[in-house]
Amino acid sequence: MNYQNITVAGSGVLGSQIAYQTAFKGFNVSVYDINDEVLERAKERINGLKEHYKKDLNATDEEVNLAYERISFNSNLSKAVANADLVIEAIPEVVQIKTDFYNELGKVAPEKTIFATNSSTLLPSQFADATGRPAKFLALHFANEIWKNNTAEVMKHPGTDMKVFNEVIEFAKAIGMVALPLYKEQPGYILNSLLVPLLDAAQLLLLNEVADAETIDKTWMIATGAPQGPFAILDVVGINTAYNITLAKAKATGSQEYEKLAELLKSEYIDKGKLGRATGEGFYTY
Ligand code: NAD
Repeated sequence: MNYQNITVAGSGVLGSQIAYQTAFKGFNVSVYDINDEVLERAKERINGLKEHYKKDLNATDEEVNLAYERISFNSNLSKAVANADLVIEAIPEVVQIKTDFYNELGKVAPEKTIFATNSSTLLPSQFADATGRPAKFLALHFANEIWKNNTAEVMKHPGTDMKVFNEVIEFAKAIGMVALPLYKEQPGYILNSLLVPLLDAAQLLLLNEVADAETIDKTWMIATGAPQGPFAILDVVGINTAYNITLAKAKATGSQEYEKLAELLKSEYIDKGKLGRATGEGFYTY
C-alpha cells in the first residue's frame, strides 16, 4: 500500500466515521476542521464510535483505543496535510465551500498528495480545476455507518490518472471496504442510480392508488428475494429527505405528478409527525 498518512477534511457525520475506520485499519490519520471548538466535538463523536466497533465488530477495548491514538487533530490546513499521501474531503455539500477548500488545499498540500471527495451529489469534474491537480483527484464515496455499511464507490472524472484510480481502489480495500469502481462520472453513483428510480416508482404507485405501501413492498420482496421493500427503505432514509428530493424534482421538471406526491408526503406523513424510523412511524409503525 502506497498510502500511509491520510488526512480527513471535515469531521462531521461522515468525516469522523472515515477517520476512525481508517485509523482502525492501522493508518495514521490527521483530522482537519475549521476550528478547535469543532474539533473538540469531533473527538467526542469519534470516541462515541468505539461502542459500535465493540458491539458490531467484536473489537476489544485495546483495539478501539489504539485506533483512536492513531488520530491527530488540526485546524491549520497546511499542518494537517503536511505529510499526507491522501486527503479525503467530507466537508458540507455546498459547491462554493468545496471550491474554496480545494483552491486552498491545492496550494498547501505536498505535490504527491492525492485528493478524494466524499460528495454524495456533486461530480468531481466540478472541482477538478480548483484542485490544481486534476489527474490526482477523484471521488471516494462512503455510506453512513461505514464500519458495517462498507461500500466505497470509487469514481473517476475524465482527467483522473488510471494509476491514481487503481491506488485508491486498493486503499479502499485496505480500510475494509468493498471497493466499487465507476469508470465514468455518474450523478448518484451506482447505488442511487438504482435506488432513486425504484423509490420514485413505488411512491407513484401509492400516489395513483394502484396499491397500498405494504402490498408494493411485499411484491418487491417476494419476487426478488430482497429483505426490504421500497417503503421500508424510505422509512430509513426519512420522509423529510424523500419530500425534499420530490419537491426539487417537481420544480426542476414542472411535473404535476411529483408535485402531488410532495403534497401527499407533507400532508399525510410530515405534518402528522410520521417521519420514518427516526420518529417510530412513517409508512410503517416501529
Ligand atoms: P456534516 O455537516 O456532518 O459535516 C461537515 C463538516 O465539515 C463539519 O464538521 C464542518 O465543521 C466541516 N466544515 C465546514 N466547512 C469546512 C471547511 N471549509 N473546511 C473543512 N471543514 C469544514 O456533513 P456530512 O453529513 O458528514 O457530509 C459531508 C460530506 O459527505 C458531504 O459532501 C456529503 O454529501 C457526504 N456524504 C454524507 C453522507 C451522510 O449520510 N451524511 C453519506 C455519504 C456522503
